[in-house]
Amino acid sequence: MISETEARDKILSAVQPLPARRLSILDARDRFAAEDYFARLPLPMFDNSAMDGYAVIASDCSPRRICPSTDKRSARLRVIGEQPAGVDRKLRAAKGEAVRIFTGAPMPAVADAVVMQEDVTRDGDEIVVNVDVDPGEFVRTRGCDLGEGQKIIGQGERLNATMIGLLASQGFGELNVGGEVRAAIVSTGDELGKPGEKLQVGQIYDSNLPLLQSLARQFGAAVALAEHCRDDSESLRKAFQAAAQNDVFIVTGGVSVGEHDLVQQTLRDLGAKIDIWRVAIKPGKPFLFGKLGHCFVFGLPGNPVSAFVTFLQFVRPAMLRIMGAADLDLPKVPAKLAVELTNDSERAHYVRGRLESGNFKPVGRQESHALFGLSQSNALLRVESGESLKAGEIVSVEVWS
Ligand code: AMP
Ligand code: MG
Repeated sequence: MISETEARDKILSAVQPLPARRLSILDARDRFAAEDYFARLPLPMFDNSAMDGYAVIASDCSPRRICPSTDKRSARLRVIGEQPAGVDRKLRAAKGEAVRIFTGAPMPAVADAVVMQEDVTRDGDEIVVNVDVDPGEFVRTRGCDLGEGQKIIGQGERLNATMIGLLASQGFGELNVGGEVRAAIVSTGDELGKPGEKLQVGQIYDSNLPLLQSLARQFGAAVALAEHCRDDSESLRKAFQAAAQNDVFIVTGGVSVGEHDLVQQTLRDLGAKIDIWRVAIKPGKPFLFGKLGHCFVFGLPGNPVSAFVTFLQFVRPAMLRIMGAADLDLPKVPAKLAVELTNDSERAHYVRGRLESGNFKPVGRQESHALFGLSQSNALLRVESGESLKAGEIVSVEVWS
């Protein structure tokens, strides 16, 4: 049995990022940037109007003169032209002049403010400005949001929807991104029935296959194969050979040393090299890692919570590394522990709990079959072997959802 850190280090030094590829920006969401991207254009690209209204020289409007007809304080300006968005008519607003302008349109030379059309009375080719105007009002200045050359995204960071939007604003139609990991998932066990079908007496539903498929997808993998296999060597052999055509192969159940646990032997018969067997974590001790041909094999315990924890701690970081991610850790959040916890076991214990308003509270039963408790949790607390934590203590929890 090896420590969790040792196992993780071994796995992460074995797996390597896939070569980068160019993808249409529309296909790049959730992939990882394969290079640093910098702003090629400032944002906004030119001074432009934030409103439909009139471009003016602010000092022309304020202080305002008393208007003889209305007896109100107002300024009267001559409208010399119209500036829509999408073209630059190269207009120039001299003193006493205004330009009709629309949202996003380039500011005419000399004008330094925009008055909203609601604050203006139009009178033929003149306007009466009914409000005070400050310089810069309703003008979006070049580069105020993003400066040219400013870093947008670093290599290994995930491309989310807002980042795709920003890169599109820079004119990128394609992006250089890390590869997509192709995963195969096989659940094993004669006792398992398929959700949606009728169970035989003594059977249980296969929950790991859908759980692991969902997790793999959540973290950005393409699931190329997902199937259940009975505990017989020939079926396992066939399933494993097909699974090994992918980057990563996750097999759950049957990895232990019982009479019906044929996974390890089948892997060895197929020529797999097994690098890790058994890790000092709870739940998740019967964990296996190795290589079958070019494919990395992860043997996860059959108990659902153990499969979940070992997926998060070992499979997830490996998949992320293959996809070119820089940060392989789950986000860690400080939280106030609601109860006292002691770990008497010789293995580090991942306690499932709920992180809410900065408090972390273990939920449900903490045994490796207890799927309901797991479903109510959103964070894991790692309690070291022999460690005692007091209620009220600030701990660091790992969040996955
Ligand atoms: P095993 O690792 O095959 O010895 O299985 C350990 C426990 O996990 C047993 O109670 C199995 O019935 C259960 N188990 C194994 N595979 C699954 C699965 N795919 N879905 C739900 N439970 C499973
Ligand atoms: Mg089994």
